[in-house]
Amino acid sequence: MPSKMLQFIRLAQAMPDKRPSAERRRDFDEIYRPFEAPAATGQASRCEQCGIPFCQIHCPVGNNIPDWLMLAATGRLDEAYALSSATNNFPEICGRICPQDRLCEGHCVLEQSHHGAVTIGAMEKHITDTAWAKGWVKPVKPIRERAQTVGIVGAGPAGLAAAEQLRKQGYGVHVYDRHDRAGGLLIYGIPGFKLDKEIVTRRTRLLADGGVVFHLNFEIGRDGSLTELRQRHDAVLIATGVYKAKALSVPGAGLSGLRPALDYLIASNRVGLGDKVPAFEDGQLNAAGKKVVVIGGGDTAMDCLRTAIRQGAQSVKCLYRRDRANMPGSQREVGNAEDEGVEFIWQSAPEALLGDGHVTGVRSVRMHLGIADTTGRQVPTPIEGSHFTVPADLVITALGFDPEDTPALFGADDLAVTRWGTLAVDSRTQMTSLPGVFAAGDIVRGASLVVWAIKDGRAAAAAIDQYIRAGETRRAAE
Ligand SMILES: Cc1cc2nc3c(=O)[nH]c(=O)nc-3n(C[C@H](O)[C@H](O)[C@H](O)COP(=O)(O)OP(=O)(O)OC[C@H]3O[C@@H](n4cnc5c(N)ncnc54)[C@H](O)[C@@H]3O)c2cc1C
Ligand code: SF4
Repeated sequence: MPSKMLQFIRLAQAMPDKRPSAERRRDFDEIYRPFEAPAATGQASRCEQCGIPFCQIHCPVGNNIPDWLMLAATGRLDEAYALSSATNNFPEICGRICPQDRLCEGHCVLEQSHHGAVTIGAMEKHITDTAWAKGWVKPVKPIRERAQTVGIVGAGPAGLAAAEQLRKQGYGVHVYDRHDRAGGLLIYGIPGFKLDKEIVTRRTRLLADGGVVFHLNFEIGRDGSLTELRQRHDAVLIATGVYKAKALSVPGAGLSGLRPALDYLIASNRVGLGDKVPAFEDGQLNAAGKKVVVIGGGDTAMDCLRTAIRQGAQSVKCLYRRDRANMPGSQREVGNAEDEGVEFIWQSAPEALLGDGHVTGVRSVRMHLGIADTTGRQVPTPIEGSHFTVPADLVITALGFDPEDTPALFGADDLAVTRWGTLAVDSRTQMTSLPGVFAAGDIVRGASLVVWAIKDGRAAAAAIDQYIRAGETRRAAE
């Protein structure tokens, strides 16, 4: 092992510089500045090169982290990029938005021994951003073109990762998406201060340059049916995500001024991309000057809170029924939200929305955290007589998402679903109950993470390749 490694003994953990909160409150630019090259080399050299790399085990795509850290520490960034992109189609995206504290970095042995984890996510971003800057990232060029084609429904990370993998094998790949831009939640869900939109669009341009054909503004169920896709292509992948917002069912839920998180975030992202959004312009989906309350404690809630700050809200509060330690959102994001001026009202739940026509406040109750349930999380129960009202004129619900009724939307009654409404797949092959129809990403897992969607997209692409080849072999033998 080069003597350059194990430098954690003399070098402390350091993230790339964060822009001051007063500055970042005013724009939607990413909050971290790029790593300077010498700092990045130093941080990579902190790696202990463990015999059993727990970081890699807890990375959903199984990134070979110790090896690319060693290559980066010894200045071999081109090889580090080749290695990191071998397991991950969008390493610079994961480097930016994976909840590393729960995945790779949370399991780094240096973190466990209180030395501070290697900044794996920031290094992954640095390696791949350098690769883009140096022109090392190239469109796919298959060794040979194959006659078969695959139709992919959904241009989110699952669909795009599968598209790239299948093009590498030489298949004709057609991606259908109901939106006017590719990227799924990467483009219309996750705000620009976490993931600059150009990072996503340069990826979709690269895929198009590599021969992937995009059919945008094309909704399966409206502009074409699953049956037609199955006739047109040799295999179909469904990667449509989950979009049915869980509703808030309290008295007053019919008042105006109550909006689901994704409507709010899509409007904000569209405005950032230069689109005209009437519901933003007339103020319905614009937090400027308003008292904003966001209900929920996940990453979506954090994104709404921090968007409202940037839109110039008068106040931004988060109502969450558990405490900080028990919230599903990344702790790093909670810290960023606090720095930017968000107020968290922990262990509090909404009981009713108040107002006459338009919401004016959220009547809330304090919660007691009892014993843990089977999932290990403490169960919240209301504390009698602890009511209080939070003034609000825009209330955003971020309570999670359920799958839409895919069989009904696709006119495919024989497409089997689980009891949660997600698509049922064979865990080995990712194939649904319909032969030649595969599924990947949130529509299989329920609301999850980008890195899991990439992993599933890659697995589905490998299974589709096997399925098509097996069909060829069978036909040749007949
Ligand atoms: C606000 C928000 C913030 C998030 N932040 C993070 C984060 O920081 N880190 C992280 O790892 N994860 C985050 N996630 C989760 C992550 O975005 C998802 O897990 C991931 O995008 C799922 O990928 P997917 O490809 O399965 O689906 P999606 O990204 O949802 O893409 C599905 C695509 O299918 C299209 N589609 C749906 N139905 C049809 C149809 N009938 N016809 C044609 N096209 C259709 C949609 O338009 C969409 O483009 C966040 C999610 C949200 C909502
Ligand atoms: S993909 Fe995510 S979990 Fe894996 S190394 Fe990168 S940041 Fe960590």
